[in-house]
Amino acid sequence: MKLIILGAPGAGKGTIAKRVMQDYKIPHISTGDLFRENVKNNTELGIKAKEYMDRGALVPDDIVIAMVEERLKQGDCKNGYILDGFPRTIAQAEALGKAEQIDKVLDFQARNDVIIQRISGRRTCRQCEAIFHIINLPPKVEGKCDYCGGELFQRDDDKPETIRQRLGEYNEKTAPLIEYYEKEGLVSHIDANSTPDEIYDSVAKVLSK
Ligand code: AMP
Repeated sequence: MKLIILGAPGAGKGTIAKRVMQDYKIPHISTGDLFRENVKNNTELGIKAKEYMDRGALVPDDIVIAMVEERLKQGDCKNGYILDGFPRTIAQAEALGKAEQIDKVLDFQARNDVIIQRISGRRTCRQCEAIFHIINLPPKVEGKCDYCGGELFQRDDDKPETIRQRLGEYNEKTAPLIEYYEKEGLVSHIDANSTPDEIYDSVAKVLSK
């Protein structure tokens, strides 16, 4: 099953995609995670991407497309995957469409107040990228990852100035993809305002069809 999750930053894509990965045994491919990994390891790709990420701008299409093409060639993607954070522009969707046949697109819809509350309380594990929230999904021990004990931190681009910019990028460049995939009959809209369990239930229903 080849899936795409669309949705604004903070709509819950990463949290739900990680559950889908576990239950459906398909890799979760998050371009944001791939870039953060490269930034952490100070690779050439990471150095290029950081310049854009720090200001909440999208990394140029050619860089992202090359990175995803490389990732999708790996053996674990043969039977499907869940793409989170890609595509984010029409050019990226067209490049993907040339290489892959997508089965379903989940459009996560969340209100602005929900998004801001989620992003401002989000904490990410430095080691395994697990996602927590100081109120909605707190770790058992404050500041520590439940799964690997790693340190939890707030992403630089989750700070208020950058969030505004990222939401602007989403509305301008990524939201048009909903119509793009609607024309192909692939989109299921998901109400993403509720709890992770409730959102996951809606996703599981769509995937079982
Ligand atoms: P995310 O974790 O998905 O919110 O991504 C974090 C940041 O990585 C974004 O704000 C962009 O700077 C960059 N990024 C991730 N995915 C893409 C993409 N598909 N196209 C362009 N930039 C991306």
